[in-house]
Amino acid sequence: MFKPTDELLQYIEQGQDILVMSHIAPDGDAVGSLLGMGALLKWLDKNYVLALQDPVPEQFRYLPGHEQVTSNPIGDFDLVIGLDASDPERFGRLFQLYEEEFPSIPLVVIDHHITNTYFGTVNWVEPNAVATAELIFDLSEVLGAPKTEELALPLLNGLVTDTLCFRTPNVVPRTLEIAASLMNAGASLSLVTENALNMKPFSMVKLWAETLPTATMVGKIIYAEIPYHVVEKYGGKDNYNSGGLVNFLAAVKEAAVAVVFTERGPQVVDASIRSRPGVDVSKAAFELGGGGHPQAAGCTIRAPLPEVKEKVIGTLLRHLKEQGIE
Ligand code: AMP
Ligand code: MN
Ligand code: MN
Repeated sequence: MFKPTDELLQYIEQGQDILVMSHIAPDGDAVGSLLGMGALLKWLDKNYVLALQDPVPEQFRYLPGHEQVTSNPIGDFDLVIGLDASDPERFGRLFQLYEEEFPSIPLVVIDHHITNTYFGTVNWVEPNAVATAELIFDLSEVLGAPKTEELALPLLNGLVTDTLCFRTPNVVPRTLEIAASLMNAGASLSLVTENALNMKPFSMVKLWAETLPTATMVGKIIYAEIPYHVVEKYGGKDNYNSGGLVNFLAAVKEAAVAVVFTERGPQVVDASIRSRPGVDVSKAAFELGGGGHPQAAGCTIRAPLPEVKEKVIGTLLRHLKEQGIE
């Protein structure tokens, strides 16, 4: 079990009006740990606001309480909690707001990225945790909070999405024990897998159909690209995360690394990177101004798509060579 420091517990104990936020283009762990933290703060009788720059993606709108999440937090806060973000830029506009409106308020960072830059007043960073939701679970244990379904379902959503349903190499027996405890509290695993992992809109199929022909191999890297006009055509932001396309490519036998380039705005390109167990892509992503985990990382680069492709692939090839993979 991961243990929060006494200092962190003190901040939470003393906070009365708390702003909780997570990262842009939120994934299942961002939404899950945010709502889980909300349930915990509600039990602690705190005033709190849950905030994300971007809307909760459709596949997570089955989670009760997602309606509480705002992109425009207003309040007289005395504590900010940042979840599942390895650097301040990951909060997008919300971090600018924090710096402008309440820079003197303590910031508690809870995260599991190996590339975390320790930007908070206190930082609880556990790279061996499979999800930030796991840390919220451990926090709830330390606080002695009851395991309600309101707490359990979003946390299970975080665990399941960040581990691709317990299939990533960082999953250990305790991960499954936590999942069992969450299920005992009333969280349905099939409800989570069906909504968060399996179901996709038809437009996603069309997006994949248009994107798969771009799949290319360079050495042991497989990549595909989604230019801006394709992103726009198939539902914009909500769809661009492309529902596991990069994981699908990462399953290609001949590849050690998979990348999906998504031009999410004119000359703003996200690179979503995955690697085979044993191959590290977090350092390359960090060097490119992003971050992540050894097997799942990413970065955002403001430049034309061909330029971004060249830069990312060149950097990855060099990092692969350093790891003896050519
Ligand atoms: P994704 O490919 O978007 O699912 O992201 C995989 C992992 O990389 C996640 O843990 C993200 O937090 C991290 N990541 C993705 N994009 C960025 C970025 N622009 N900056 C820092 N970390 C990122
Ligand atoms: Mn995340
Ligand atoms: Mn996470």
